[in-house]
Amino acid sequence: MSTVEFSSVTKRFDDGTVALDSLSLKVEEGEFLVLLGPSGCGKSTALRVLAGLEEASSGDILIGGQRVNDLPPGARDLGMVFQSYALYPHMSVAENLSFGLRRGQQRLAISEAEIGERVNSAVDLLDLSEVLDRRPRELSGGQQQRVAIGRALVRRPKVLLMDEPLSNLDAKLRNRMRLEIRRLHERHGTTTVYVTHDQVEAMTLADRIAVLNGGRLQQHARPLDAYHRPANSFVASFIGTPPMNLIEGEARSNRFHAGELSFPLPAHLSAHSARAFYGIRPEHIRRLDSAEHPEAVPAQVLGRENLGSVSVTHLDALGHRITASERTDDDPDASGQITVSLTHSSAILLEN
Ligand code: ATP
Repeated sequence: MSTVEFSSVTKRFDDGTVALDSLSLKVEEGEFLVLLGPSGCGKSTALRVLAGLEEASSGDILIGGQRVNDLPPGARDLGMVFQSYALYPHMSVAENLSFGLRRGQQRLAISEAEIGERVNSAVDLLDLSEVLDRRPRELSGGQQQRVAIGRALVRRPKVLLMDEPLSNLDAKLRNRMRLEIRRLHERHGTTTVYVTHDQVEAMTLADRIAVLNGGRLQQHARPLDAYHRPANSFVASFIGTPPMNLIEGEARSNRFHAGELSFPLPAHLSAHSARAFYGIRPEHIRRLDSAEHPEAVPAQVLGRENLGSVSVTHLDALGHRITASERTDDDPDASGQITVSLTHSSAILLEN
């Protein structure tokens, strides 16, 4: 186990694309860090630079406190699992698991018995004993994925790197494997850096999330902190389904004003006076019985999507599109004019 640190790492490709812009980030020993962001934000590049598959244009990469910029990938003691599992098709599961160790047997100075022991322990951990003699094409997607993880784990790496390892799986299997990866991490405790664009994966797997956009770090925080206290409007709109509502306007005299829309600020924000985005999560918007209520905001229901236990209601509040998430058992009106409150104790103001 080891710490991992990016210290002012910039990656500029030959064509001038800046994929990482002065990234500084520390992953603690035994921590599960998720690099999260939209396509093209630089997350795979960060992983590749850490693995030594790309060279940083400037800045330092440290593993266990040691600068590794000049070490080749094989000498960095990392285990890697990629989106395409890249298993050897002509080898059995058992051979796939042991191949990396056999190839490096002399360099790693490990005995045949030690190889057997490490493979057995991965087989138990990942529940692969039934399929040891099969070739990769005879395995399900989830089994292939477990073999790929097992192959990385048998090396007992200091750090485990995973790049969108679940994206080839169907939704059901993805949910199951997500739980398994987290469970595995809890048992193994290997420092892990995991790349995904899927905020649900990030929220459920991570000890901490690093949100990237345009090669820049937006926020580095525990998942629930990023959810409840996003650092900026990018994070607010990227984390959460449906995303946080952001209304652009002005906080003034205990109220928030946005065109014709005006409502009281919650107590914790009432002292603010600035142009800002007012951020409220869809689940915090409440329907009111009376248009005379001091918090009343009139809203037109534009449509309602029933997701089972919750429904997403799309509203037009005096020219502002907002979404509310409501329990389906409440079964409120799905159309017409309603009155809502946008004043909530967990709402936030973000600079614009
Ligand atoms: P995705 O989720 O789509 O894989 P990502 O966040 O992992 O995206 P990267 O693959 O790190 O993004 O790419 C970051 C930026 O760098 C993108 O604009 C990409 O087009 C660019 N890029 C990546 N590799 C190269 C390269 N070899 N040469 C030039 N530009 C590159």
